[in-house]
Amino acid sequence: MSRSDSLSVLGLDADDTLWESEARFHEVEARFRDLMAPWSDEEATDAALLATERKNIARHGYGVKGFVLSMIVTAVHLSDGDINANQIGDIVAWGHELLDHPIELLDGVADTVDALSRTHRLLVITKGDLNDQMTKVARSGLANRFWRVEVVAEKDEATYASVLDRLGIQPSDFVMVGNSIRSDVLPVLGIGGRAVHVPHTTTWILEEPDPKAVAAVRFPVLDRLADLPALLADWSVA
Ligand SMILES: [Mg+2]
Repeated sequence: MSRSDSLSVLGLDADDTLWESEARFHEVEARFRDLMAPWSDEEATDAALLATERKNIARHGYGVKGFVLSMIVTAVHLSDGDINANQIGDIVAWGHELLDHPIELLDGVADTVDALSRTHRLLVITKGDLNDQMTKVARSGLANRFWRVEVVAEKDEATYASVLDRLGIQPSDFVMVGNSIRSDVLPVLGIGGRAVHVPHTTTWILEEPDPKAVAAVRFPVLDRLADLPALLADWSVA
């Protein structure tokens, strides 16, 4: 057993925990409102797009491809079929822009991940399109700090339990860190692990957790990922 095999496993979310993601989607949503302006006001456009995304998550999955399909479906619906082929082409091009956008690591992430990789085996657990997520990991400059990268369809208790079981990790030995209470914190606490919330500036409506579930548990909240090594050091001596 090499030295690294004995290090405990730390789970890290990727989007809006390690690098910016949500803000890129908001930029495209603003363009979509402009595109729909002849047929629909901003509020109605936002509501229709969200309703389409909510309805189609199970079919499309999370990520850019599903977002693009949802915009197209919404555009056809709101324009009553008057959206033209060039405009649909623009929506697809916005999706390509999202996929090709340079990775912007959040403040302090590079140094913190570097430090954490010396004290823990880092297991990235992220949902979204497989290609997109793996390409982002590769382009982040952090890939060689990670022990494993798991791209999953949904981040719920069953998924976490199955990933940990497959990797031979006891939930009680596992800590997960991320920006989403719904995806990164509650399900991990639910299977007997520990979790740390590092909020990002905005939370997607479909990521908002059930307030009753949040009120029933306690977990640390950090301003920045850079504050994590100190918290983990405290836990390890507690
Ligand atoms: Mg996230």
